[in-house]
Amino acid sequence: SVIPDYLTEALDDVRPDTSGERAGYIPELATADPERLGAVFATLEGAVYGAGDIDTEFTIQSISKPFTYALALADRGFAPVLAKVGVEPSGEAFNEISLEPSTGRPLNPMINAGAITTHSLAGVEGLAPDQRVERVVDGLSAFAGRRLSIDEAVCASEMEHAHRNLAIAYMLRSHGILTEDPRAVVDGYVRQCSVLVTARDLAMMAVTLANRGVNPLSGVQVVPAPVVRQVLSVMATCGMYDAAGDWATQVGIPAKSGVAGGLIGALPGQIGIATFSPRLDPHGNSVRGVSLFERFSSDMGLHVMEVP
Ligand code: GLU
Repeated sequence: SVIPDYLTEALDDVRPDTSGERAGYIPELATADPERLGAVFATLEGAVYGAGDIDTEFTIQSISKPFTYALALADRGFAPVLAKVGVEPSGEAFNEISLEPSTGRPLNPMINAGAITTHSLAGVEGLAPDQRVERVVDGLSAFAGRRLSIDEAVCASEMEHAHRNLAIAYMLRSHGILTEDPRAVVDGYVRQCSVLVTARDLAMMAVTLANRGVNPLSGVQVVPAPVVRQVLSVMATCGMYDAAGDWATQVGIPAKSGVAGGLIGALPGQIGIATFSPRLDPHGNSVRGVSLFERFSSDMGLHVMEVP
C-alpha cells in the first residue's frame, strides 16, 4: 500500500523540527526520548497503517479525557453529567482554575476541572475510588481493543506535584460538584492520565469514536452512538487547550492532545489518526504532531467543513 510510504515521507519532513519542550511539570515526562516520532491511520474496516515509533509506550495524559467523558455519559446518562460539567469552550489553559461563577460547574470536560469531575462520574454511583479507576482502565482498554496498564512511576511523579489539580478539586468540593474526598478523586484522575498507550492504541481508540463507538477489530460497542456524538462535538470545540480555534480552522478534525506528546483525531465515518512526538508548543500540544495533522488534513481534504 502507498499509505506507509506517505506516512514515512510525512515523518521525515517534520523530523528536523526540534522546537518545543517536553512537559517539565511532571518530572518523569521530562525524561522521555524527545526524538520519538510516529503516526498511525486506522480505518473503519480495522486496517492499521503506521510509520515510525508506533509501538512505543507513553502515558495517555489528557487524551484520556474524551474517553472518560464518554464512560461517564454511558454509565450515568446525560443529565447527571451535564448538571456537573458544561460544554462551553473556555479558551483557557488546561489547568486553569476556572469554574462557572454561579454554579461552580467546570466549563467543559477537556480542561482539568471538568476532567477531574468526569473521572468522579465514571462507573455506577457509589464505587470506591480504586473500583472507579478499574472501570476507567477497563473502558479505555475496550476503546483500544487490548488490555492497558498504568505507569506507576509517572503516576507517582505527577502525584508529588499535583498541588494545582488538588486546588481545583478542593474548589469543586466546596461547590458540591465533587461530593467525596478531593484527594482520592485527584489520585484516581492521575492514575487515569498515567495509562500507557502506543500510537497504534490511540489510533484504535480514535477510530472507535469515528465508527460510532464500535471498535473495528473487536466488534465491541464500547459506548452508545449518541455518547460518541457528544464527545466528538466537545473534542471539536475544546480538544486543543487554548489553541482550539486555530485547530478548528487549520485542521478541522475533532481532536485531543496530551502532554506526553500524543495527539488523536477522529473523523466521523472516515478515519482515526494518532501521532506521537514528545516536544510541546506553548499551548501544550505536540509540535510535530500539529504539523503532521495540518499536512494530513490538507493533503487528504479531511477538514470537516470541506465538502469531500
Ligand atoms: N495529568 C495531566 C494534568 O492533569 C494531564 C495534562 C494534559 O495532558 O494536558 O496536569
